[in-house]
Amino acid sequence: MPFKTKALQKTAPDQPFRVTEIERRDPRAHDVVIAIKAAGICHSDIHTTRDEWGKAPFPLTVGHEIAGIVEAVGDAVTKHAVGDRVGVGCLVDSCGECEQCLADEEQDCLRGNVGTYASKDRDGSITQGGYAEHVVVDERFVLGIPEGIELDVAAPLLCAGITLYSPIDRWGVGEGKAVAVIGLGGLGHMGVQIAAAKGADVTVLSRSLAKADLAAELGASRTIATGEEDWDAELRGTFDVILNTVSADLDLDRYLRLLKPHGAMVNVGLPPDAQSLGLGSLISGGKVLAGSNIGGIRQTQEMLDFCAQHGIGAVIERIGVADADAAYDRVVDGDVKFRFVIDTATFADEEVVPST
Ligand code: NAP
Ligand code: ZN
Repeated sequence: MPFKTKALQKTAPDQPFRVTEIERRDPRAHDVVIAIKAAGICHSDIHTTRDEWGKAPFPLTVGHEIAGIVEAVGDAVTKHAVGDRVGVGCLVDSCGECEQCLADEEQDCLRGNVGTYASKDRDGSITQGGYAEHVVVDERFVLGIPEGIELDVAAPLLCAGITLYSPIDRWGVGEGKAVAVIGLGGLGHMGVQIAAAKGADVTVLSRSLAKADLAAELGASRTIATGEEDWDAELRGTFDVILNTVSADLDLDRYLRLLKPHGAMVNVGLPPDAQSLGLGSLISGGKVLAGSNIGGIRQTQEMLDFCAQHGIGAVIERIGVADADAAYDRVVDGDVKFRFVIDTATFADEEVVPST
């Protein structure tokens, strides 16, 4: 039977969150029913609900950094059992048959994957995300959270963690490599920890030195304040890889000049507006300008295991469901160290508004 679950819902970009009940599907044979314990707030949730990436399908529940406990499983489920600690990231389905899916790259499914929220599901409904008490997800898209990482610390790994782990792996960031991470937010602070654990020398390029001490604790060897004049004078031609996590406009040419010849700048931040580029800074030195989109399910599990092995987790600030609107403003103001995570136990304190 389909069932109702409490959720934080937005009805329009300029409306606050409300606590309501949304419907979850009747679990199918391969489905896992998850009691969500923690849900991270990703800047993508904010871009989406503020219509910064185009019109969102309201009413909408967002959230794709989900950690919880398996409450029930369908008859055919083999990967997870009741009581398991599990997570769900940005994907809940894909064709499973195309070249990309067969290569464990479901994020690039050639027939179009199904995102955890604001995406058209197989049955035509619009998917609803993780700011909720329960979610129902096909077992293929449910990850195991290793012992040793608390669920609320693990939740942001499901998006922020994999989004940095994947390009770090692909572009060979590790021992003997100099890497710069632009933007020390939710994604950036995962990039610093993972790149440092891989053995790379990590420089943080942040607007100020306000987070420099924390950056050092995360494993950065230095922080440069990009808000200062001539901040880049000594840095030109020094990095093998630059990971750009910034959610706003950036002078790409200036950052490309910081790469060594043949170095790569990988963009994961997705600002609402188009960015411009003078091709000279790319051509000179034969540099690479690349992008990266989360990661596949196999690699997401690899990332979770890697983080557990290296004692890496997100640095979080726990909030109640009533604090979500204020948290959004604080993320946009750069006032978060480094990820807000909603404690779903606080749904119990909230009155439910009937859904429309
Ligand atoms: P976040 O926590 O807000 O971090 C973004 C960071 O960018 C801030 O902490 C800030 O770092 C820097 N920044 C913000 N505004 C800036 C500006 N005007 N100029 C220069 N730097 C600025 O956001 P997030 O959750 O990490 O997400 C970052 C971006 O990645 C978003 O656009 C999000 O949608 C995107 N994203 C992409 C993927 C993917 O698969 N590619 C996955 C998840 C998210 P400092 O304070 O240190 O300067
Ligand atoms: Zn995200």
